[in-house]
Amino acid sequence: MADIIQLLPDHVANQIAAGEVVQRPASVVKELLENAIDAGASSIKLIIKESGKTLIQVVDDGIGMSPTDARLSFERHATSKIKSAQDLFQLNTKGFRGEALASIAAIAHVEMQTRQGAEELGTAIKIEGSKIISQDVVATPAGTSIAVKNLFFNIPARRNFLKSNQVELRHITDQFHRVALAHPQVSFQFYNNGSELFNLAVATYRKRIVNIFGSRSNEKLVPVEEETQVVKISGFICKPEFAKKSRGEQFFFVNNRFIKSPYLYHAVVNAFEGIIKPDTYPGYFLYLEVDPSSIDINIHPTKTEIKFDDEQTLYAILRSTIKHSLGQFNIAPVLDFEKDPNLDTPYAYKNLNAPLPKVAVDARFNPFNTGHPSAAPKSFTKKSVKGWEEMYVGLAAASNSGEEMGESDFESETITSSIFEGMKEAEASTVTTLQLRRKYVVSTIKSGLLLIHQNRAHQRILYEKFLRTITIKETTSQQLLFPLSLSFSSTDMSILHNISEQLRCLGFVFEEKENYTLEISGVPALIPENEVGIVLDQLISDYQHEVPEDSFSQTDVLAKALCKTLAVKTGDILDSNSQLVLLNDLFGCKEPGVSPFNKPTYNTISESEIDKKFI
Ligand code: ADP
Ligand code: MG
Repeated sequence: MADIIQLLPDHVANQIAAGEVVQRPASVVKELLENAIDAGASSIKLIIKESGKTLIQVVDDGIGMSPTDARLSFERHATSKIKSAQDLFQLNTKGFRGEALASIAAIAHVEMQTRQGAEELGTAIKIEGSKIISQDVVATPAGTSIAVKNLFFNIPARRNFLKSNQVELRHITDQFHRVALAHPQVSFQFYNNGSELFNLAVATYRKRIVNIFGSRSNEKLVPVEEETQVVKISGFICKPEFAKKSRGEQFFFVNNRFIKSPYLYHAVVNAFEGIIKPDTYPGYFLYLEVDPSSIDINIHPTKTEIKFDDEQTLYAILRSTIKHSLGQFNIAPVLDFEKDPNLDTPYAYKNLNAPLPKVAVDARFNPFNTGHPSAAPKSFTKKSVKGWEEMYVGLAAASNSGEEMGESDFESETITSSIFEGMKEAEASTVTTLQLRRKYVVSTIKSGLLLIHQNRAHQRILYEKFLRTITIKETTSQQLLFPLSLSFSSTDMSILHNISEQLRCLGFVFEEKENYTLEISGVPALIPENEVGIVLDQLISDYQHEVPEDSFSQTDVLAKALCKTLAVKTGDILDSNSQLVLLNDLFGCKEPGVSPFNKPTYNTISESEIDKKFI
């Protein structure tokens, strides 16, 4: 039988290798940005069109390439960064595999212009699908410009696999953030379809973060600093109260390279344990410096995973460093997460030390002497009971005044649902409710007991209200006395821009100002002014996850985000009137049985079930 094994032609091998390196436009962005950093650039420009599908260009002012190097750079395993395997253990560069440019050139149209500073003229090279089309001598600025056009032009399956422009842009922006955050000493500009998304001047680490994520992030950041023999840690963690519902702002850099490490992530989460709400994620920007020979970054082709020699020590150091920062900046644990801490203690009691119960010891008391009535235990009991009663009165008053959501916003609606069938109006008003563990509202119905999950029920009520308001466009706006000025990152702003129509329908009155600032002069009547920022943050984070295309699902995401933020929470105290209104409103809903997130809102326990317990 004839021999059947052949060596793959280079262009086929390159195309296969490309699959590993280039998954989407963002992969190209990452490789080109990293090459520019490795070339010692002090200023880098990223230009994309249609989220990188038609153009990705990176222009740097780095060291440039000689004509021979320019050509060689597109060969596989062509790298200037390592010469021997030994070099792998002293890596200070991002790249070293010499694969990126070869891979990119295999699946796109590439135009490179490059000049070394000392030379007068530079080199221009055109490559299409690994084939060199032309190489010329040109006048070009010092540094390198690489333009990648028509990505995946020769692999239609890959091209079709790309997501919407919005999604691809988000991936690119993520990569851009990672590189820009790791190199604040380099200035960056980023354009999509001709419009500027970022213009980042040389800055400190802190300023770079603020420039990317908006000026509001400044107050969130708590510095972290530690130097040991194993590792030097610097950077910031976000204050616990800013922990997000999504894992947005979490960045580890090791020797200025963005990395993912589930293990170190766990160390951070562990340090935050008990300080942030469950289901929220701490934000962090942590820069670790270690001896390059103590890590192996070679275990994954796209190089975001990393292996440390001494992970356990690193874990312990990181955890205690973060705990220390949290402690030093007086960030005390909040024990009851869902509750507004202002409701904890009535104002009159604030700053007052709780009086210790006084035990009047009756020296003559002898429990065995039944003939001698003892006053001591009784007066103790009585005293403390009275104290508790006072606390309760105070609590109720505070929760009334603090909880504007309570009365004013629950407009009573008639009970329509069958659950109250047969009950006359007068009877309905005598319905009694009580709150169980600040979580459930309990009431009786004909057949037994009714248990309402207060948070989910209120979500359902608000969700339907918001859907109505947005679709009928019945704007109920409250004018703000002083306009609110909120600044965002450019990505966040573009999300808000996309849903501005719906926001206006809801009752938001605002103008988009310079520097990604929103000036808000009116807010929906249902949203308290001090919650506006939180509501918008929640919205942005939900839209980042869902990216709904049609207007119906946009409205749905909007209504869900709002009800999630604004609904009364587990832990909130509801006065009896609010409990009643909650009950009435819930059963005035179209779908009272489930929350907008498909969880049961109430349950009943029938009399016979209760009877069974008493057998
Ligand atoms: P690697 O970065 O792993 O070495 P690449 O394929 O990304 O491999 O690049 C190949 C080589 O091309 C690099 O080693 C470097 O010498 C050269 N090169 C690539 N981009 C640039 C640039 N922007 N400026 C100067 N040299 C570059
Ligand atoms: Mg490279």
